[in-house]
Amino acid sequence: MKKVTLIAVAIFFSAASVFAAPLNRTGSDTTKTKKVKPAKVQYTCTMHPEVLSDKPGKCPKCGMTLVKKEVAKKKTT
Ligand SMILES: [Zn+2]
Repeated sequence: MKKVTLIAVAIFFSAASVFAAPLNRTGSDTTKTKKVKPAKVQYTCTMHPEVLSDKPGKCPKCGMTLVKKEVAKKKTT
């Protein structure tokens, strides 16, 4: 009888964790999707840092493909 109880408890806990995990994930995902803003990204030319674009493209000065540059909060320079 004790064995049966143990098995029942084990099943209960594993079932609980199986149900809890996806629910938690879905919940946080939904909140994240709603709250998270797209990070501000700018594109710049590696040779011409003054060239800034909010879209990927080519540098108007040298024609190089612009690289992604995430705008940092801190400016050390
Ligand atoms: Zn350039």
